[in-house]
Amino acid sequence: MLALHDLTWEPNEDWRQEAACADAPTELFFPMEEDPSGSRLAKEICAACPVREACLQFALSTNQSEGVWGGMDADDRRRLRRRIRDRRRRLAS
Ligand code: SF4
Repeated sequence: MLALHDLTWEPNEDWRQEAACADAPTELFFPMEEDPSGSRLAKEICAACPVREACLQFALSTNQSEGVWGGMDADDRRRLRRRIRDRRRRLAS
């Protein structure tokens, strides 16, 4: 389960050493908009990645606006941010 209540990121990138995408083509993770199949392949790699949570946490906390991180593309992350923001508002009220 992702620890999405906390979007702060500790400046530690050790997780990158275990990235399942280390030898994958960068274009898979940063596909051209008209090539959605690239995003799908990247997400399949992410699904088996042992550092998926850290990767997603990094992308959210550093506002990565493009590419697939932690199994989520930019639209997925926008939706997730919205859900987190809504949940925080509910908890604060
Ligand atoms: S979650 Fe995906 S993008 Fe992140 S390190 Fe793993 S394979 Fe790479």
